[in-house]
Amino acid sequence: MAQNIPELYGSLVFNDKIMRSKLPKDMYKALRKTIQNGTHLELDVANSVAVAMKEWAIENGATHYTHWFQPMTNVTAEKHDSFISPTGDGQVIMDFSGKELVKGEPDASSFPSGGLRATFEARGYTAWDPTSPAFIKDGTLYIPTAFCSYSGEALDKKTPLLRSMETLNREALHMLHLLGNTTVKHVSTTVGPEQEYFLVDKELYRQRRDLIFCGRTLIGAPAPKGQEMEDHYFGALKPRVSAYMHDLDMELWKLGIPAKTKHNEVAPAQHELAPVFDTSNVAVDHNQLTMEIMKKVADKHGLVCLLHEKPFDGINGSGKHNNWSMITDGGLNLLDPGKTPAENTQFLVFLTAVIQAVDDYADLLRISVASPGNDHRLGANEAPPAIVSIFLGDELTEVLKAIENDQYFNGQCAVQMDIGAKVLPHFVKDNTDRNRTSPFAFTGNKFEFRMLGSAASVANPNIVLNTAVAESLRQFSEKLKDVAPEDMETAVHKLLKETIQDHKRIIFNGNGYTDEWVKEAQRRGLYNLKATPDALPFFISDKNVKLLTNHKIFTKEEIHSRYEIWLENYAKTINIESNTMAEMVYKDILPCILSYMEQLANTACLKKSVAADISTDSEAVLIKRLTRLQNTILEETERLKEDTLKANSYEDILSCSKAFETTVLADMARVRKAVDEAETLLPESLLPYPAYDKLLFSI
Ligand code: ADP
Ligand code: MG
Repeated sequence: MAQNIPELYGSLVFNDKIMRSKLPKDMYKALRKTIQNGTHLELDVANSVAVAMKEWAIENGATHYTHWFQPMTNVTAEKHDSFISPTGDGQVIMDFSGKELVKGEPDASSFPSGGLRATFEARGYTAWDPTSPAFIKDGTLYIPTAFCSYSGEALDKKTPLLRSMETLNREALHMLHLLGNTTVKHVSTTVGPEQEYFLVDKELYRQRRDLIFCGRTLIGAPAPKGQEMEDHYFGALKPRVSAYMHDLDMELWKLGIPAKTKHNEVAPAQHELAPVFDTSNVAVDHNQLTMEIMKKVADKHGLVCLLHEKPFDGINGSGKHNNWSMITDGGLNLLDPGKTPAENTQFLVFLTAVIQAVDDYADLLRISVASPGNDHRLGANEAPPAIVSIFLGDELTEVLKAIENDQYFNGQCAVQMDIGAKVLPHFVKDNTDRNRTSPFAFTGNKFEFRMLGSAASVANPNIVLNTAVAESLRQFSEKLKDVAPEDMETAVHKLLKETIQDHKRIIFNGNGYTDEWVKEAQRRGLYNLKATPDALPFFISDKNVKLLTNHKIFTKEEIHSRYEIWLENYAKTINIESNTMAEMVYKDILPCILSYMEQLANTACLKKSVAADISTDSEAVLIKRLTRLQNTILEETERLKEDTLKANSYEDILSCSKAFETTVLADMARVRKAVDEAETLLPESLLPYPAYDKLLFSI
């Protein structure tokens, strides 16, 4: 049956159109003001919105509401309350007040807080974020909220994100006003996250402990075919995948999530979904929802959606490209080179602000994407290296060089912009990039941060990006604020020139996968923070604490609590992997090897009983090989168990994480090597779990 998509789109969202039709005019206006300018929401407005929201939700089949929030895990949290309110005569009415809309009080004690609640207050509360629309899912009205402790500490990812957007708005406005652009009232950051994922058959998934407990395979020899034929990327969609993607689009569209592009990715069984971009906090909420719906729809199709960054060894893992820009309330993209000299100047100021931000806070950007899963990807020739650098493209790089050297730029270019102001060079619109090896690339009118892993919330990288760029802009404004209008052009040129000189080391247009770049980056003094425990200590460095506290994104306590949670999460994740691996060895692999050897030995004996002089060489060869592997597997697994115990015994969370990184992961790699070798010798009929060939090629 044909669907009316425009009608379906956003049908489960309490969006602007519904609000306008349901709310009294003055209440609607007051709410709009809160949404646009972040002004305080009066209780009478909240009450009015609550009534309208409840009515709309009930009309659409909802019986419950929930304050939906994003604790410091990577998933969202919700507690459902029904609308019913007993009237005392055995009956109920459906009730929902402004107070219930605006504030909720979930028991916060079981969420990670990194010690914050111990020192402050045990309870937390959720507060409505009216800038992200409420929606209905599975008969419940979802109200996007921020989650804080009673003394005001952020216990979630939304609060700091909103703070960072506000900071960037303030500093960008200040800068625009200094540049003479006084009509702009608000600057938002925009995000379009491209999401990669794998689909595997549910029945096969259920047979593997590693997929169930860890979301990735811990063992598994490569299938005869991997991604070497390059035949999966953008290939025709198989019917089962296509049906899944169709359903997924429908579900996302109902929730007002603008899913736009879908295609097969590089690795077999790997796919991608990209939405149209939105303001950062809406995009973050939508990405969380997208990941959840991806899993839910997969389940309906007898599939499992794997969002882990490295589900399979030997083929690409999954990432998330964070497309990012800044946009004014008038719809002007501040990273669009523009067509007039004034726009060119403005663009160059914001561009260099980003360059400075990425250079100054490259460590924080790396940290913002740090996770045990992502450590497998970064620098593994499938994703950018752990070294943060910026790709600008040759033409834009030439422009910056020209500014640095006081030259006019007159390169050979595809699109020649208007002749610039006296001091600014002619400007060329770069033909955007196809260099996929760069972690942070300018792509025409936005930057694309490509180090993100597929599983994590995109909140963290955007918090860092917004705040770091706000800080560059603040420093720029400081230098320009006392300049007379007639001297502004010269002052801006000087500022651009100095910024380029100071920060050009972060610009790199070459191949980021090479060893030469690693050496060159070291020579340039860039960070190369390979694993999460190497990176995290920089989170609490003076420079970074200063940035985040000065802009009131986090308090010092909040930073330290997040540092603890982050490292704890790292250690716990690898601990689970280690336990799972040991379990697979003892319960699955070793018994399988023993059974096969028993079969071989029996076969040899039986053969001998038929003819005494018959050769049993091949049985003997196999038994010897398997015995050798069996011994290695056992030895290495015993060592893994010991080292895991030892890693867990460290009191200090950094030492604990480092032990997991340096010893436990290395042990796991050795166990895996032996198991994978054994797997290639074992008959399929005895294998206790489906191997890579089935997992990757059965849909
Ligand atoms: P590609 O990465 O393949 O070049 P596109 O340029 O079409 O793809 O864009 C990829 C993503 O970037 C999409 O999700 C798109 O919505 C998003 N995007 C485009 N413009 C912006 C912007 N100004 N701010 C944030 N994201 C954007
Ligand atoms: Mg991209």
